[in-house]
Amino acid sequence: MSDCLFCKIIAGDIPSNKVYEDDLCYAFYDIDPQAPTHFLVVPKAHIASVAEVTGENEAVVGHIFTVISKLTKELGLESYRVVSNIGEQAGQSVPHLHFHVLSGRDMTWPPG
Ligand code: 5GP
Ligand code: ZN
Repeated sequence: MSDCLFCKIIAGDIPSNKVYEDDLCYAFYDIDPQAPTHFLVVPKAHIASVAEVTGENEAVVGHIFTVISKLTKELGLESYRVVSNIGEQAGQSVPHLHFHVLSGRDMTWPPG
């Protein structure tokens, strides 16, 4: 999607601090980290949010979780939180599916 911030990051039109990349997904550090380690994992194909996941595109979501499991081990993260915000009220500010991976500090529950 030409006007999507994360599509531009994936395409390299906007610079990012890359963690990992393969054919299906791209991982990069958040520009405004909310924990000592905070990166985002996004599908390369534009999907607006979890609300747009269907039987047609669900495989990439499983793949992203495999990548998160692998990357966190490589980074030595034993405890971490994976978050995806859907819609404005939940705090979604970029309408391209993304999973936040946050680690390195105590976290509260319920989330704010
Ligand atoms: P959301 O608010 O949609 O759940 O998460 C979007 C995330 O993208 C936010 O944590 C925000 O800091 C991050 N973000 C917004 N613009 C950029 C950018 O240009 N580069 C990077 N690396 N992260 C961004
Ligand atoms: Zn996009």
